Amino acid sequence: YFITFEGGEGSGKSTILKSAEQKLADSGFDVLTTREPGGIEIAEKIREIILNPEHTAMDARTEALLYAAARRQHLTEKVLPALSEGKIVLCDRFVDSSLAYQGFARKLGIEEVFAVNKFAIQDLMPDKTLLFDIEPIKGLNRIAANKDRERNRLDMENIQFHEDVYEAYQLLVAKFPNRIKVINADQSFEDVESEAVNYIDTILKN
Ligand code: C5P
Repeated sequence: YFITFEGGEGSGKSTILKSAEQKLADSGFDVLTTREPGGIEIAEKIREIILNPEHTAMDARTEALLYAAARRQHLTEKVLPALSEGKIVLCDRFVDSSLAYQGFARKLGIEEVFAVNKFAIQDLMPDKTLLFDIEPIKGLNRIAANKDRERNRLDMENIQFHEDVYEAYQLLVAKFPNRIKVINADQSFEDVESEAVNYIDTILKN
């Protein structure tokens, strides 16, 4: 079972992913958690190139191709082997991030970016996707309050960019209604966590 976690900045998805891993493991599931871009050495190196705040000259198409390349390597080296061992894979971001950030917010076109990604993933779409839904301004305020967070090239984007990402995710929910489940991320950590874990529990038991 391949489950991805999506959302804008400060949606809490990465924190919830870690606690969901623990909860599911406690219930006896064999779980692997990972993240994009990254998760393995080659893809973590590509991540450093993409997110380096000094790389202000990076072209949007270059960015989209690098994300797709990192995704490809991560999929073949880590995700697919785990799935074939029968593991439940929880992945922090996947194709939907590229559709939202590069396709819509960077205006390359959702379908164009999807085409590049189809080449990279060869039709391996997630079984289910959890979208951690919170208004961009609230998410950004959470990040601003978190001093430990690593700075990245996205920090120079304005609020409109994050509003566009938000809008894009709503379009993706309409495009993939059976795959994407919206989780209300504008609640206490405990409430978001239980909403997410309960949902995953339900799909795994069906
Ligand atoms: O989710 P995480 O914080 O690890 O993502 C790292 C950064 O990369 C974030 O600022 C995110 O918005 C950005 N990103 C992006 N396009 C993607 C995936 C992530 O701009 N396709």
